[in-house]
Amino acid sequence: MDDHELLRYSRHILLNEIGIEGQQRLGSSHVLVVGLGGLGCAAALYLGAAGVGRLTLVDHDRVDLTNLQRQIAHSTERIGWHKVESAAASIRALNPLVRLRLQTEQADAASLDRLLPPADLALDCTDGFAIRQLINAACVRHGRPLVSGAALRFDGQLSVYDVRKADSPCYACVFPPLSQVEETACSTMGVFAPLVGLIGAAQAADALTVLLGRGQPLLRRLRMLDARRMEWSEVRVARNPACPVCSPRSRP
Ligand SMILES: [Zn+2]
Repeated sequence: MDDHELLRYSRHILLNEIGIEGQQRLGSSHVLVVGLGGLGCAAALYLGAAGVGRLTLVDHDRVDLTNLQRQIAHSTERIGWHKVESAAASIRALNPLVRLRLQTEQADAASLDRLLPPADLALDCTDGFAIRQLINAACVRHGRPLVSGAALRFDGQLSVYDVRKADSPCYACVFPPLSQVEETACSTMGVFAPLVGLIGAAQAADALTVLLGRGQPLLRRLRMLDARRMEWSEVRVARNPACPVCSPRSRP
């Protein structure tokens, strides 16, 4: 780490839980961020600022006016840009040391099989049930931790799924893929602006905790935020031995 990096990351290095060694570990880490909407904007900005060495950003969408109420890595002058390009511009402005890989595509099983293995963990910052299941299945296939966030109206949800850890469920253990879930979207339901920032920043915090191998990430716990009253609550979640995604019977 050169003098510039020692200064840039000095407030991290001052923390006993991180220090120079932890900061170097972050610098050699690689995170896959799927979705550069409200959650992804907050999460990717913090991961970049915090000095995660490599970020792969995946989103097929473009910035539009309705995004700007909450998607703070984008800007009015970038309406019409691909979200990954816009988010990358903001991350580069904050921290030019981060190496960025930009994928302007809809994530699917094939692209996740290509993009996930080089990464240390994945952040699910999407807003659809089907894509969440695809990201989870890829994380189980490739043995990568998944930091999952969701935000709609005033309600947020957050958890870490790491099937490498004993008894840790996968996303599908908690939200079975075959269940009938109505796809709900911000476009019809609305979303409270800072909620996506709160959940996205919490996803970044959990990702850093996992990468540093310290602290207590949200394993086996599903945390929920009611932003009407700023109240967090938590339920325990367990591995489902009959899970169609992570049970030994369903894995090759
Ligand atoms: Zn499972």
